[in-house]
Amino acid sequence: MTIAVRSFSSARGLASDSPARKIPVVEIITPRASDSWTLTRAGEPRGYIDAHQLRELWIHTGTACNLACPFCLEGSHPGDGRIPGMTLSDAKPFIHEALDMGVGQFSFTGGEPFVIRDFVHILDYASQHRPCFVLTNATDPLLKRKHQVLPLLNNPYPIHFRVSLDFPDAARHDKDRGDGSFNKALEGIQWLHDQGFKVSIARQTDADEVPAEVEAQYRAIFRQWGIPEHLAFTAFPDLGVPGSEDGSPEITQSCMEKYPTRDSRAHFMCTYTRMLVKKGDQVRVYACTLVDDDPDYDLGGTLKESMEQRIMLRHHRCFACYRFGASCSAPA
Ligand code: SF4
Repeated sequence: MTIAVRSFSSARGLASDSPARKIPVVEIITPRASDSWTLTRAGEPRGYIDAHQLRELWIHTGTACNLACPFCLEGSHPGDGRIPGMTLSDAKPFIHEALDMGVGQFSFTGGEPFVIRDFVHILDYASQHRPCFVLTNATDPLLKRKHQVLPLLNNPYPIHFRVSLDFPDAARHDKDRGDGSFNKALEGIQWLHDQGFKVSIARQTDADEVPAEVEAQYRAIFRQWGIPEHLAFTAFPDLGVPGSEDGSPEITQSCMEKYPTRDSRAHFMCTYTRMLVKKGDQVRVYACTLVDDDPDYDLGGTLKESMEQRIMLRHHRCFACYRFGASCSAPA
């Protein structure tokens, strides 16, 4: 799973390099103070977000993945069951509830969505109703399902794939993703593009990078592969593994005076998105794509109910939204 930020060069500073600064998961999911949901550790009222309108519904397909990247925001790896696989019958009622609420797009993340057996059926169903956006590593799980993915081009709404290609350097990409992953991802990108799907790239950032230079290196590789050079990039910071704490400042109500109006808060994903997460046999609605490791962001069993909940900006990843305008959504 990946995330985009408007300005990321200093975002890596959000994550501590020191294991000593990590706070165990148990401290994240139990109160740190007498009322840690509404008050900061210093006892100040927390900043919060009230939702506007559901524009985008994310569906978490499950944390199983064919790869085991150590930096994964979701802690995904082969056979992982922290979040079980979503089925079409799980997702269907929420797809219809979202349509009734005027949703504009369905988006999917994992794990690797194509590892999940029912995912292509969910994608088929969703793209009958709205444009879809899929985060994928575009390696074997996708390549083995070409015969199922290709017919989706004929559905009424388009499907946009955002493929993770961490660095414009095969050895560096493969170091964490496994030998051959870089070339496999390029094969997937090339195939998706050649069939007529929209494709963009999710990449990682270096603190001292010059984005134009990095992206020129990608374009040189795309030329070698016959992939168009105009593919959009989104770059993301290190957001930590699930249950981690990066020591980011807490967001108070006074901090939120920086965003006094509804329009100025519109870049917080929780104003316009929700994410479905399977918990055991049930599907729950979480505030956004970044907080599925904290049960306080479980906003209920229906989308309508979830949009009525006030969201306190307690999770350490909320600071990325506050400071950098983080968004998982598709680039324009
Ligand atoms: S990380 Fe926090 S601020 Fe950002 S969208 Fe999610 S709940 Fe909202």
